[in-house]
Formats: sequence, structure tokens, C-alpha cells
Amino acid sequence: MLPVDAPQGPGLAVVTGANRGLGLGVLRRLAERGHPVVLGARDVEKGREAAEGLGNVHVHELDVTRQDSVDGLAAWVREHHGGLEILVNNAAVHYDTFQTAIGADLAIAEEALAVNTLGAWRTTVACQDLLRRGARVVNVSSGSGSFGETDGAGGTPAYAVSKAALDMLTVKLAADLRRRGVLVNAVCPGWVATDMGGPGGRPLDEGVDSILWAVDLPPDGPTGTFTRDGRPIPW
Ligand code: NDP
Repeated sequence: MLPVDAPQGPGLAVVTGANRGLGLGVLRRLAERGHPVVLGARDVEKGREAAEGLGNVHVHELDVTRQDSVDGLAAWVREHHGGLEILVNNAAVHYDTFQTAIGADLAIAEEALAVNTLGAWRTTVACQDLLRRGARVVNVSSGSGSFGETDGAGGTPAYAVSKAALDMLTVKLAADLRRRGVLVNAVCPGWVATDMGGPGGRPLDEGVDSILWAVDLPPDGPTGTFTRDGRPIPW
């Protein structure tokens, strides 16, 4: 049954891959706003270090490629909060080796799909009955997966394919969850200076703002969109 009764005050937020980078930035902002937050980290120790000094944070072991791990998180949310207001599917892997699609190492492609696409899918499915009316699911995607923004050549095809698939997943989940009043949107944070983005990207806060745009949508806001800095970008 859908938990429609929203709690008093800001509701629970779950952020995956939140022990560093953009995930930690988003989590920190939500905690500062008074949301109780769940910091999903595949290494709990790293998660605890990242959560130091933040109020109302629960660090939970979360590897989005493992069903038992995702189910464990959902069970914890059910037991301790009964429902969920914000789910940010942020966890992802990239890789440094530039490749062509024709010459790709398919083990890398499998990992990218397992984490970046199926991870968000698995987490959303596991949490579906927890999502309160008006809840926002934000899939952190990338312009790398955009048909409209690619020139087709080289780059990181496994990552690009995994993000393009995440975008289609976003559209499908948005349609499925619309009647329950749950918004599902994909967001590109832009090129951001994190471990993944490397030096030269824009400041973390700007990427965080791009993601929070979809978190801050009103209950009757758009669903099934793909944006950067709050503006639509091509699929
Ligand atoms: P980082 O590499 O800095 O952080 C990635 C996070 O994902 C880490 O916490 C990592 O955990 C976690 N993670 C990886 N695999 C798993 C897994 N199987 N289960 C759970 N967590 C996992 O990346 P960013 O912060 O830069 O990226 C965040 C999001 O933004 C990603 O979705 C990325 O694709 C997207 N993005 C980033 C851009 C950029 O320029 N930075 C550009 C466009 C999109 P651990 O510490 O254990 O490795």
C-alpha cells in the first residue's frame, strides 16, 4: 500500500553513492535543510567519515548491484520511517580508458550497465511502495548519454550507453509512477570537478544545484524530463 501520509516537516531522503562527489554534496544540502537523510555507501566506513559533522544522517551499506543490499536499505526505511520523499539515484561508475564501441572491453560495459542503469532501476523498484505521494525520484544522468549532444565518435561508449538507457528508464518509470503522484526525472549535473569529472570541471555546488532542481519540483511539477541547470536538454 502506498504510504500517503506525509510526516511533519521535511521527509526522508535517500541518496545512493553518497560518500563522495555529487552524491555527498546533494546529501549535505538536504541535511542542512532539515531532511532526515540516508547516506548509501558500499563502504560503510567511508560513509561514516563522509557523514561526520552532519546532523540526522543514517549511513547504510548500499551496493546498488546487489539485490540483498538494496532490499536491506528498503527494509530499514520501512521500519524506521515508513516511507520516502526523495530518492536520488546517483551512484555510478566511469572509467579512465577512452575506447571505441567496436573496440570496447565488454567487461567495462557490463559494469557500467550494472551500476549506472540496473542499479537505479533495482533501487527504485525496491523502494516503490515506500514512495509517498509527491515523492521525487531523481536519476543522475549525463549529457554523455544524449543522442542530441553526441558527435558519435570515441569517448566512453559503455558509460554513454548506460546513461542513455537510464534516460529511457526514467521515461518508463515516470509513466508508471505518475498516477501515484510520484515524479521521476533525469538530470545532468554538467561537467563537475569530482573524482569522476576530474580537474577542470565546474564547482561541485553548481552540479549539486542542477540535481536539486529536480528534487525541488512541486508535487504537480514535470515528470519524465531530462534537464541540466533546470533547462531541458535533448535525449
Ligand atoms: P564519483 O566517482 O565522485 O562518485 C561516485 C559514487 O558512486 C561514489 O560514492 C561511489 O562509491 C559510488 N558507487 C559506485 N559504484 C557503486 C555501487 N555499485 N553501489 C553504490 N555506490 C556506488 O562521481 P560523481 O560524484 O562525479 O558523479 C555522481 C553522478 O553524476 C554519477 O551518476 C555520474 O555519472 C554523474 N555525472 C557526473 C559528471 C561529472 O562531471 N562529475 C558529469 C555527468 C554526470 P565508492 O566511493 O565506494 O567508489
